[in-house]
Amino acid sequence: MTVEAPAKNSHDLELVANVHPPDWRPPIPAPRYNLVVIGGGTAGLVTAAGAAGLGARVALIERHLLGGDCLNVGCVPSKCVIRSSRVVGDLRVAASLGVRLPGAVEVDFGAVMERMRGVRARISHHDSARRFSGLGVDVFFGDGRFTGRDTVEVNGASLRFKKAVIATGARARHPMIPGLAEAGFLTNETVFELTERPRRLAVIGAGPIGCELAQAFRRLGSEVTLFHTGGHILNREDTGAAEIVQRAFIDEGIRLVLGAKLARVERAAAGKVLHAETPAGPVSVIVDEILVGAGRVPNVDGLGLEAVSVAYDSREGVTVDDRLQTSNPRIYAAGDVCMAAKFTHAADFAARTVIQNALFLGRKKLSALTIPWCTYTDPEIAHVGLHEHQAAKRGIALDTYVRPFSEVDRAMADGEEEGFVKVHVRKGTDEIVGATIVARHAGEMIGELSLAITAGIGLGRLASVIHPYPTQAEAIRQVGDMYNRTRLTPKVKRLFAAWLRWTR
Ligand SMILES: Cc1cc2nc3c(=O)[nH]c(=O)nc-3n(C[C@H](O)[C@H](O)[C@H](O)COP(=O)(O)OP(=O)(O)OC[C@H]3O[C@@H](n4cnc5c(N)ncnc54)[C@H](O)[C@@H]3O)c2cc1C
Repeated sequence: MTVEAPAKNSHDLELVANVHPPDWRPPIPAPRYNLVVIGGGTAGLVTAAGAAGLGARVALIERHLLGGDCLNVGCVPSKCVIRSSRVVGDLRVAASLGVRLPGAVEVDFGAVMERMRGVRARISHHDSARRFSGLGVDVFFGDGRFTGRDTVEVNGASLRFKKAVIATGARARHPMIPGLAEAGFLTNETVFELTERPRRLAVIGAGPIGCELAQAFRRLGSEVTLFHTGGHILNREDTGAAEIVQRAFIDEGIRLVLGAKLARVERAAAGKVLHAETPAGPVSVIVDEILVGAGRVPNVDGLGLEAVSVAYDSREGVTVDDRLQTSNPRIYAAGDVCMAAKFTHAADFAARTVIQNALFLGRKKLSALTIPWCTYTDPEIAHVGLHEHQAAKRGIALDTYVRPFSEVDRAMADGEEEGFVKVHVRKGTDEIVGATIVARHAGEMIGELSLAITAGIGLGRLASVIHPYPTQAEAIRQVGDMYNRTRLTPKVKRLFAAWLRWTR
């Protein structure tokens, strides 16, 4: 969706009226701001609202739509589409649950997308320019650019700052595949504008974005081919977890082309043809649309970073220290433009860190945050803390406890036995250093383990947290029981036995 092109439907009109009102009158700039924030996605919005709430004079600059990727072309639209696709997933297994459907399942793709637009428009009220203006933030629309040691320019207005925050986010990386640009492709910026389902869809990249959308489109009726350079999908996740999702994909009819090096794309009468080299030989696939989910590129161009001596790298983004300060001590950065953890909640908490450090001489560190994440495939993979290989790199020896859902009553009742709760503790202790959950609602369950890590609650104590029966989250308590059983050494067992003999 673009601001320039008029919105095509009432939902998008409502959204634009909130997050980039066509009749917006820029405020008269204050003589000097405590904080000028460039970028009105999650990081920018949270920084601006938080700082203004504490009494700071704040200017927020957004060139496109407030809410950034998350609201407009990321989390919100993708989760809406995934919700519809999950209904299809449920109907696929209906017969195994004893429910017969009267006929074939029919998906009204247009209605799915229309619902998504409606929900997105409703959520857009949270990020509206008027709301932020009401919170005391001066909202400017246009390209923000540093022009002097303490000035940012936007649409001809010069804003003076004491401190500034770069929160310009990231965009889809366009892979350099010969013929791809000529053939045309979708990214997260355009895929949610579709009103008709592509009959045949190629997805390039099996990271979280590619996998979530590949499964959703497959369930909504597209024939999906997923190309990935790696040997298996989701290769940043726990291998066992990724394997479960990969099996689900194959089971649902997603064609996986792994170890693929895309050589070229061409347009033919029958569609767009992707030619790939794979370990098993060359593969060619004809599709109607190509969706690229092959990584993110930070938005650092055109910001005038050189003018203010802010170091950056066009791949990694703005260079920051652990306090999110750039090489210019008056300028901070937060969110996708500077962080490896490219998530909305990470941008949110980085913004809180920045407010304290930039305005209140705070010493808050990004590395002190416990940042979980979730990939919303079905089943979901949620993770917090370290993976095994990361712990090994840091020389941390682990004990690992795993509870498969095939042994959890509620998962059996739900017919959702594929998955597990896996918890890593520091060897010989119950200090949780990492956890992975693979479950239908893993994202809802990982919070308990994040809490444990954040609050320093050991795995042994999780065993005493009473969960309602039957729930899938009980698996976390059961992992705690597994740990506690290891405390029952032969010596303790002998002592217990002696006590019980004596008290008989
Ligand atoms: C398809 C998809 C699904 C996702 N799903 C999830 C999910 O389920 N959960 C999750 O946690 N994360 C998810 N993410 C990631 C999440 O959207 C991002 O991590 C989050 O939006 C980052 O926020 P940000 O503020 O750093 O950047 P952005 O949201 O990208 O915001 C940056 C803003 O800066 C503006 N800007 C850029 N340059 C300038 C300039 N020079 N002047 C003025 N403004 C400028 C941009 O227009 C943009 O609005 C998803 C992403 C995608 C693409």
